[in-house]
Amino acid sequence: MQARLFGPGLAAAGQACDWQPDTGLITWPTGETRLPAVAGGVRIAGFDLQGLELSWADDAGGWALQVLDAADASQVRAAPPAGWQAAFAQLAGTTRRHRGGRAIGWSALALFIAAPLLMLAAFFVFADDIAGWVASRVPQAQEETLGDASFKAMQATLKLRDDGESARIVREIGGRLTTGSSYRYRFHVVDDAAINAFAMPGGIVVVHSGLIAATRTPEELAGVLAHEVQHIELRHSLKALIKQTGLSALWALATGDLGGALAGEAAQRMMSLGFSRDAEREADSAGFDALLRAGIDPAGMPAFFDTLAKQAGSAPELLSTHPASGARSDALASRLTAVAGQRFEPLPYRPWPPAP
Ligand SMILES: [Zn+2]
Repeated sequence: MQARLFGPGLAAAGQACDWQPDTGLITWPTGETRLPAVAGGVRIAGFDLQGLELSWADDAGGWALQVLDAADASQVRAAPPAGWQAAFAQLAGTTRRHRGGRAIGWSALALFIAAPLLMLAAFFVFADDIAGWVASRVPQAQEETLGDASFKAMQATLKLRDDGESARIVREIGGRLTTGSSYRYRFHVVDDAAINAFAMPGGIVVVHSGLIAATRTPEELAGVLAHEVQHIELRHSLKALIKQTGLSALWALATGDLGGALAGEAAQRMMSLGFSRDAEREADSAGFDALLRAGIDPAGMPAFFDTLAKQAGSAPELLSTHPASGARSDALASRLTAVAGQRFEPLPYRPWPPAP
């Protein structure tokens, strides 16, 4: 059978040769030798670990004979050369261990490759569930750290107007709507003509001056604030952020560094965090309750929908993140019918809209 011989006087890469296992004779065009009848070592060889290498030493030096063809190698193993039986018996034991090790190696490697892919696939399929699960496990203190860090990161891009009349009113109404909350709320007004408002995890609500200018009554502004606050209370903002930042959020949770790792990314996304229609209905409903508790006429909430609908030009930014729907206005209308007999003290802010 074909083999390769390494030894004294032969090329470093070995010499192609023919070996007859039964006689032990090894021949090549310019010479010959013989496998000794006293065994040397036997080991598995070849890239695919299907070959054999027999090694021995004589006065001239060390020799090695490689049989790399799998079929030839197994033939040799089935009928070892004279004198080599014990060495081959030993090899059989090590091979079994070797194969076992390799099987574990492959499955570990497969798992190593598959696990992140599975996680990724799972994340896309169950993004809502996973984000909800993660959000429910974030302690409030960490949520606040995340919100504060995100706000700090985006502050440079915001023109804060926190010392004006508008900001004072927003803080006052916001305070009434969040009485008794476990969050420490901070309300900010930003000088921006786009009709928008957004809620950041941990208790930060930002309102654009453009939105305040678009409202027809203070009750409409209260309706928006009540809705935004509920996105925080119900952890919608945190959940949406986790969903959008995806696996990095899971990683951050696993490493316990949610605040630091996500803040930069969060800042980029905070203004465009979108909510599901279910979340919108939830925030409407809980916001409606909050308005009632605060003694503020909840009619302002559906009224602001009309205001938004009447906006000329492109759709207000607020609607791209808080999707309006027929179901949403229907639900609000029926809640309003239920409180039709109730009288509410009008909010004491005149003229409206207030000065910036
Ligand atoms: Zn919303």
